[in-house]
Amino acid sequence: MQVGEPVLRQSARPLSIEEIQSQPIQDLIDMMRTTMRDAPGVGLAAPQVGESIQLIVIEDQERYIARLTKEQISERERKPIDFHILINPQITEKEGSALFFEGCLSLPGFTALVPRAHSVRVSALNEKGESVEINASGWYARILQHEIDHLNGIVYIDKMQSRSLTNNENFERYWKDKPVSEIMDQD
Ligand code: ZN
Repeated sequence: MQVGEPVLRQSARPLSIEEIQSQPIQDLIDMMRTTMRDAPGVGLAAPQVGESIQLIVIEDQERYIARLTKEQISERERKPIDFHILINPQITEKEGSALFFEGCLSLPGFTALVPRAHSVRVSALNEKGESVEINASGWYARILQHEIDHLNGIVYIDKMQSRSLTNNENFERYWKDKPVSEIMDQD
């Protein structure tokens, strides 16, 4: 689903344990995993595939990270994250701040600087309906905040620093290798 689809602006509804364990939701999870990997992306929220329910999938693969420089990996605090599912997730704590470029499969071709908390604590259910608690920092915390925003009808452009918005081609050409502090001085 691309921006402009009403489902991306709705608050998604939570799932019951019975629903989570049902075949339609298990099938949806399989479909979302495939869609995310095909994109490829590091996260996907159910509203992005047209389902207004509180379910997200996340996976950050080594081969995606390998495209970044050592410096970029370390300043983003990016490390591989195994595939997992979070249902009815709630951010219960936020700490610090971080500013990096981020993009979205529902708004392909663009990227912008988005301020996020540096670390978050998230309470959720897994695909079996069991409670899970996650303490995340760095890039993983950013993915969680981006995907959980989707469940609340929020897209990154609502939070971006709008003057940093660039298409991917110009990002590669002008901004990719510049430290964020230098980009902020461009005005
Ligand atoms: Zn997104």
